[in-house]
Amino acid sequence: MIDLHTHSTFSDGTFTPAQLISSAQAIRLRAIALTDHDTIEGIPVLQAAAENSGVEVIPGVEISVDVKLRNKGHMHILGLLIDPSHAELKETLTFLSRERALRGDRIVESLQRLGMDVSRQELQEEAGEGAIGRPHIARILLRKGYVRDIQDAFDRFLGKGCPGYVDKKKLNEADAIRLIHNAGGLAILAHPQYMNFATFAETREKILQLKMLGLDGVEVFYSGMPNDFQKALQSLAIEENLVVSGGSDFHGENKPGISLGSGRDNDLNIPLEILEALKQRKAERHLC
Ligand code: AMP
Ligand code: FE
Ligand code: FE
Ligand code: ZN
Repeated sequence: MIDLHTHSTFSDGTFTPAQLISSAQAIRLRAIALTDHDTIEGIPVLQAAAENSGVEVIPGVEISVDVKLRNKGHMHILGLLIDPSHAELKETLTFLSRERALRGDRIVESLQRLGMDVSRQELQEEAGEGAIGRPHIARILLRKGYVRDIQDAFDRFLGKGCPGYVDKKKLNEADAIRLIHNAGGLAILAHPQYMNFATFAETREKILQLKMLGLDGVEVFYSGMPNDFQKALQSLAIEENLVVSGGSDFHGENKPGISLGSGRDNDLNIPLEILEALKQRKAERHLC
């Protein structure tokens, strides 16, 4: 079994890279991709922790894309098998992480205006080495008793349309895919169901547009993806020669109920062949 979508303390996960590796070993995962939001800083740390562990590390990143989607839909594109030392990738992600920090400050200010006792300093401490994200703020609100749980924090304060919501700087679709390709990676549409289109036909249309921009594949194995959606996505991937990926989107305690590798209630069991097909596609792409 493998897991090609995970987060660490370098973004909004609660497991350090070393903890990810020991958990992966415990359940005998053959490979994990670290796909932190807008940062690759955790990759060398994960690679060091993985030495002689029997767990293969796949360098990755998850990029938030600037696109207007109805019904609170959002688009994330995974870069898998990227070169983490690529200069343009590093520079662009450093810029996005700085923007995240500034946005975190603005969220804190709006919560302060609501009368909450939260500070920029606390947010920095909560995020530590990580690229700042809303889950860090959710954890502070939870600790201080302002919310019942992480979900409640998003529902009442941090979600789109809520009083503490602040949008963040994002790359557009074309730039995100180009950046991933420049860094040698494959561009994979993460959790396509979260684009929240009303019909699969619209989802299909959007995926075909992304394919024109160079999208390589789609995340087909993802916890909780509705069955009919998954079937349609799998067929689309075959028809359109898109590669298939899958992962748990593990965030540790920031996404309760999701386990590394096996997802929610064991609904994932992603075989090593998926990774082999991705490597094969990468090799083919770089021939032309
Ligand atoms: P950000 O990148 O700072 O906008 O935060 C996005 C992250 O927040 C996602 O990757 C999830 O980890 C988490 N998140 C977003 N929406 C929700 C939600 N409704 N409930 C719980 N976690 C969420
Ligand atoms: Fe996240
Ligand atoms: Fe995502
Ligand atoms: Zn993710």
